[in-house]
Amino acid sequence: MIQEPIISGKELILRINKLKKEKNAVILSHYYMSPDLQLKETAGGIADFVGDSLGLSVEAAKTTADHIIFCGVYFMAETAKILSPDKHVYIPDKEAGCSLASSITAADVNALKAKYPDTPVVAYINTYAETKAACDVCCTSRNALAIIRSIDSPEIIFVPDLYMGQNLAKQVKEETGKDLILWNGKCEVHEQFTSDMAKGLRMQYPNSEFLLHWEVPDTTVSDSLTNAGGVLGSTNDIIRYVGESSCTSFILASECDLGSTLKTMYQEKEFITPCIKCPHMKKISMLKTLEILEHIGVDKMDNFEVNLSTELIHKAYQPIKKMMEFT
Ligand code: SF4
Repeated sequence: MIQEPIISGKELILRINKLKKEKNAVILSHYYMSPDLQLKETAGGIADFVGDSLGLSVEAAKTTADHIIFCGVYFMAETAKILSPDKHVYIPDKEAGCSLASSITAADVNALKAKYPDTPVVAYINTYAETKAACDVCCTSRNALAIIRSIDSPEIIFVPDLYMGQNLAKQVKEETGKDLILWNGKCEVHEQFTSDMAKGLRMQYPNSEFLLHWEVPDTTVSDSLTNAGGVLGSTNDIIRYVGESSCTSFILASECDLGSTLKTMYQEKEFITPCIKCPHMKKISMLKTLEILEHIGVDKMDNFEVNLSTELIHKAYQPIKKMMEFT
């Protein structure tokens, strides 16, 4: 453990960036990280890439870095390892989990396959590697609709996010007549954006538009978008929508720190959020990131390194590869 936990922010940044170069490492930072971790090195921070989970893993795979530090949650670091099997991938806190990813196992997927034989299984990227390996194709919130539309089957199993599944199912049914068979997983952050909360915010901020992530409950979506403008989609859809909208005030129904990202990108616009933070994402800190860099090449890295068997990497890569044909 680091012996001197009180280091100024500036000193931390200097040390991290120096070690990053010495050890040929890159730092990936998810949109839900705290604002200090999301600041790019080119803007005075430490991150090399800031983005969503798949986008970050794809960017890291393209680099010549030997070491990838993923400031995000564990399933994201696993995805980076699957896409960069020859690189060392680390996460600053291996306990950084996800309520969606832990809601379903490979055994659960196999039981669904036995119950619904010949029904394709689409897995949201928010699943662990073992679960992905049992599924037919992965999807992100950005390409889920396109992937489901393209599958030639009257029924499709979608796991694990119940609310995202219900939101997708409405559009898919209307457009294609296909039915989705859903799992009861929920994001513990997005499920808190209730319909009552949306109604209250709409009354308080009548001129604002809603920014809703796919993972919020379907009743919240209908109550928000029926009576106010806005968007339902992925994090990237939300970011793009704000840039294209003439509205200057938005109610954000997603992780609180996405509000910081949006404010950095669109300083002239206002973002209102109940500020619900993901407790798993908030386990990641600059100090823990520094700890990884200090130990690379010096100590065993079991506390931080993501290790997956070659067989699991191969199996979990197949549904990701299928998904990437759509991105
Ligand atoms: S915000 Fe939700 S989906 Fe994302 S890591 Fe946290 S619990 Fe999982």
